[in-house]
Amino acid sequence: MPELPEVETIARELRPLVVGQIITDAWFDWPNQIKHPAPSAFAGAVRGREIVSVERRAKWLIFSLGPALATGEPAVLAIQVKMTGQLDVVPRDAPRDKHVHVVLGLDDGRELRLRDTRKFGRVALYTAHEADAVLGALGPEPLGEAFSLREFRRLLRARRARLKTLLMDQAFLAGVGNIYADEALWRARLHPLRTADSLSEAEVRRLHRAVRSVLRQGIANRGSSISDYVGADGEPGDNAEQLAVYRRTGEPCLRCGREIARIVIGQRSTHFCPRCQREPLSAGEPSR
Ligand SMILES: [Zn+2]
Repeated sequence: MPELPEVETIARELRPLVVGQIITDAWFDWPNQIKHPAPSAFAGAVRGREIVSVERRAKWLIFSLGPALATGEPAVLAIQVKMTGQLDVVPRDAPRDKHVHVVLGLDDGRELRLRDTRKFGRVALYTAHEADAVLGALGPEPLGEAFSLREFRRLLRARRARLKTLLMDQAFLAGVGNIYADEALWRARLHPLRTADSLSEAEVRRLHRAVRSVLRQGIANRGSSISDYVGADGEPGDNAEQLAVYRRTGEPCLRCGREIARIVIGQRSTHFCPRCQREPLSAGEPSR
């Protein structure tokens, strides 16, 4: 499942390929992937709009679109690639295999294609107001300026959730999933079952720094080549070898040599070092 660094990588790679293009037509063969508006209205609503920018918000790719001729209103095209989605920009006559389920024609003769073997990816066209409502329900961007140590401390206060669960909660913090939650907790030396309200000031500071550094490192390495994820250019990311704990069960901790352990929290595999990230004995475990 691509997380913030992988989606950021896709946005950066797509931007120079599609910004300035006008969407000439839309095609899809799996209506469930069109989340909004009704699939029957999608092609008409997206046609004729210019792609003004490509950004990322949480795990969504956000294409700002210029006004439609009919209404004069701009729009936002939001695409979530989920587990197996891949976005390619190719010439219109390039062979299209059976896993291509959404195609947007571009006015220079190329196409933006969503290829998605498991069809979990979602495409939505929103008005600016609708986009604000949907995206506004997400937590802050961990690499954004507004996500200061002070703000993180405020968000954590009085939260009794387990750290692993909380970091993956998109309404709490946007863009962090299983991989980067495990990595950040290892880097901050915090057990994934610790509760947010048990953290000392020093631990809050370590976690804030760790979340931001693992995400920055992921972006610098063009994302992780976990699962079926590949970048927009078809090449897997380079970050998988850089991961310290994720899917390293039984391998030595890079810090202390102890074997990395795996537990399941909220149905998600969780990887940690039992020595560096000590189990919470009680709510009042002293920090080290
Ligand atoms: Zn360790």
